[in-house]
Amino acid sequence: MANTEQLGNAVATSTGASAATSTGSSAATSTGSSAADRAEIGVIGGSGFYSFLDDVTEIQVDTPYGPPSDSLFLGEIAGRRVAFLPRHGRGHHLPPHRINYRANLWALRSVGARQVLGPCAVGGLRPEYGPGTLLVPDQLVDRTKSREQTYFDGLPRPDGTIPNVVHVSLADPYCPAGRKAALEAARSRDWEPVDGGTLVVVEGPRFSTRAESLWHQAQGWSVVGMTGHPEAILARELELCYTSLTLVTDLDAGAETGEGVSHEEVLEVFAANIDRLRGVLFDTITALPPTATRDCLCTKALGGMDPGFALP
Ligand SMILES: [Zn+2]
Repeated sequence: MANTEQLGNAVATSTGASAATSTGSSAATSTGSSAADRAEIGVIGGSGFYSFLDDVTEIQVDTPYGPPSDSLFLGEIAGRRVAFLPRHGRGHHLPPHRINYRANLWALRSVGARQVLGPCAVGGLRPEYGPGTLLVPDQLVDRTKSREQTYFDGLPRPDGTIPNVVHVSLADPYCPAGRKAALEAARSRDWEPVDGGTLVVVEGPRFSTRAESLWHQAQGWSVVGMTGHPEAILARELELCYTSLTLVTDLDAGAETGEGVSHEEVLEVFAANIDRLRGVLFDTITALPPTATRDCLCTKALGGMDPGFALP
């Protein structure tokens, strides 16, 4: 994992003003220019995606839900301002069940991001989805246990506001425009993606037992991961577009006959595919619609309902 020094660029670090004031404006302030602190697209992924970009600006953002996994790293790709957030923190110190997902999505929105891409490593639940498969899911199953997964929890926020009771549809959890952009980006790089499928998200950090894995397969689900939930629902509650790009790093325990999944195996396959995944990610970013023209279901998730607090 790269640290700040390894970025090789001038890095402006700033402390963010608290977003707890709920003013509806950006939570982040810095000593740099305001444009450097803003982004229209968010990427939740590690340093392998941004560490070589020119002119990366690092900013710290606080949120009503506590700090996100790490600083935001803002850069530009094909004229689009992008904020990268290392999901597990620099050095990968946060296990999936300890990630502050609410803070992460809130922080991205607070710097201006309205479309979010969430690349992640997954296990394949079918023999044909072997290591190196890129699957862009269209469905999600939550099998997590302990995560804060809503902004509408009915509890007072630091500024004293109490969220209203709001039920958001997650029937189609991913942004259709984002999925289209991701699929086209992969195809243009001769990496034929699997178009659609169900991502089941488990609590982790352990991998599945063979019985659990066989059960997941028997349901017809496609891939299994540990971080795709609650990112999708939290993005939806903030009316953000969210697209998951899953890279299969192993066959899950029920889909293979060996010793089961090892952490080492996962890291190896991820490292071997990081360059082309980054290429697909950047092409996806380029192909995403301009923020002002978004007309997907994500933009109307609240249906005009008052959340009881100001969105950042
Ligand atoms: Zn959308």
